[in-house]
Amino acid sequence: MEPLRGGALVNLSDKALKKLKENSNYSPAAFGLRWAASRDNVVTVLSGMSNLEQVKENIQTFIDYNEMDEKEEKLADEIAKIIQSQGEINCTACKYCMEVCPRGINIPALFALYNQYKVTNNKMFFKIYYETLAESEKADKCIKCGLCSKNCPQSLDIPTLLTKINDEYNKSAG
Ligand code: SF4
Ligand code: SF4
Repeated sequence: MEPLRGGALVNLSDKALKKLKENSNYSPAAFGLRWAASRDNVVTVLSGMSNLEQVKENIQTFIDYNEMDEKEEKLADEIAKIIQSQGEINCTACKYCMEVCPRGINIPALFALYNQYKVTNNKMFFKIYYETLAESEKADKCIKCGLCSKNCPQSLDIPTLLTKINDEYNKSAG
């Protein structure tokens, strides 16, 4: 399920995409699907598709399927490192901040979503997933009390980061 992280791995950042293009003729979708299918314990790769082109491309990927070789495995690792290094907020999802937030804001979910957005540059994905959060969990409900930051082992300036995320959402929605 979700071998391409709900489409997020199809929209690679410029740096990750450049790395893939320089070293492979596969598209991000085909490369990702082949990576998933090349795991020893995987027998089925189940990918969501939203248009006919994607259906055709994915079928072709598996008609022509061949397992990733060592060089490609190495390339996948290098691309993964690029993706991981581009996450912006060093949140470990411990949720200590949520224990003290009087507004019930889903801070780790917002940070994870924002990091993913920074990696993929996929504005539409960011907007859609942001809107699936309950109203009370969204960044604009923060009252800047600062209690969360005092409880954060990473010393993150959470209120400021939430403002940044809210601004980004407003840009994506506008
Ligand atoms: S600053 Fe915002 S996110 Fe942090 S505890 Fe207060 S209301 Fe919650
Ligand atoms: S306390 Fe800090 S590291 Fe932990 S989930 Fe909250 S923001 Fe992330």
